[in-house]
Amino acid sequence: MKQIEKEIINRDLLIVGSGPSGLSAALYAGRAELNPLVLTGMTLHGQASITDTIENYPGFPDGIGGAELGQLFQTQAERFGAEILMDQAIGVDLTKVPLQVETYSNLYQAKALIISTGAAHRKLQIPGEMELTGRGVSYCGTCDGWFFKGKDIVVVGGGDSALEEGLFLTRFANSVTIIHRRDELRAGAILKNRAFKNPKIKFIWDTVVTEIIGDNAVNAVKLLNVKTNQEEVHETEGVFIFIGHKPNSNLFKEQLELDKEGYIKINSFMETNIRGVFAAGEVADPNFRQVVTSAGMGAAAAIQATRYLEQNELI
Ligand code: NAP
Repeated sequence: MKQIEKEIINRDLLIVGSGPSGLSAALYAGRAELNPLVLTGMTLHGQASITDTIENYPGFPDGIGGAELGQLFQTQAERFGAEILMDQAIGVDLTKVPLQVETYSNLYQAKALIISTGAAHRKLQIPGEMELTGRGVSYCGTCDGWFFKGKDIVVVGGGDSALEEGLFLTRFANSVTIIHRRDELRAGAILKNRAFKNPKIKFIWDTVVTEIIGDNAVNAVKLLNVKTNQEEVHETEGVFIFIGHKPNSNLFKEQLELDKEGYIKINSFMETNIRGVFAAGEVADPNFRQVVTSAGMGAAAAIQATRYLEQNELI
């Protein structure tokens, strides 16, 4: 089979990922006149862009839609010369200079690289989950909520995402039952109080979902009470899963140091173990994972990448 010749594209600074960290890095690098190139990855503007309303990003006292905020980040970065390209990294070689990032059609070469590939939702890994994804199983209330108008649905998880998305889903669903594996929520006070007050939200405590049941669509979930060991079948037409995230670091695992959960290890200057390679946002942040903290990490990574390029007379 004939190999397609890939176009080679050279840049001083390449940014992989277009969420709040990647686009904030692009803004700062643009203002430093580095003409950064951002490869968007599969999720343009990152996970935050599929959040209905973001209420805790400073500067927006009435909240702002996730998609709108993502577009504003992009517009601001482009104003200062950043180029945003729809392309997906499939391979990297960080062992030599220039650093290389490969996509299906191009080979990008850069003197410095900022990795801001974010995180992806975790899966329950139970029977029925994969088979019924898109047929009643979902990981995004904003994307799929409308399909569950007047239906009784369940949400799995006890963190901020589960509650925030559960509350959002009450706009459509007849009832939202939150199934949590403990008897105490991980979510913060504001969302907790809103959920407890919402008449459409019910809770099932100390319980895990062991199977999702249905042929072409979800009919029920099989539940196990972890305290009593009692099993039950709970009828439902929708299962929304919000049980946390895992960093999108697979591409880098052979070349960069990761922690035991797969987050890229960085120092306080956003530097990885390879010179000229920086990481920012959820791919390198096991602790905070907020839009504002990711944006801050992106800005810091760009400032440090600029210093690196200048101090080593690479620009
Ligand atoms: P998270 O905080 O890690 O919570 C995950 C939840 O899923 C936990 O309640 C956990 O239970 C449960 N869980 C994990 N694995 C499970 C499994 N295999 N089976 C059943 N349940 C499981 O994740 P998140 O809610 O996505 O939030 C991620 C970060 O984003 C957090 O820092 C959060 O504060 C932030 N966030 C903030 C907002 C906001 O401020 N409005 C909104 C969304 C997210 P345990 O509690 O028992 O561990």
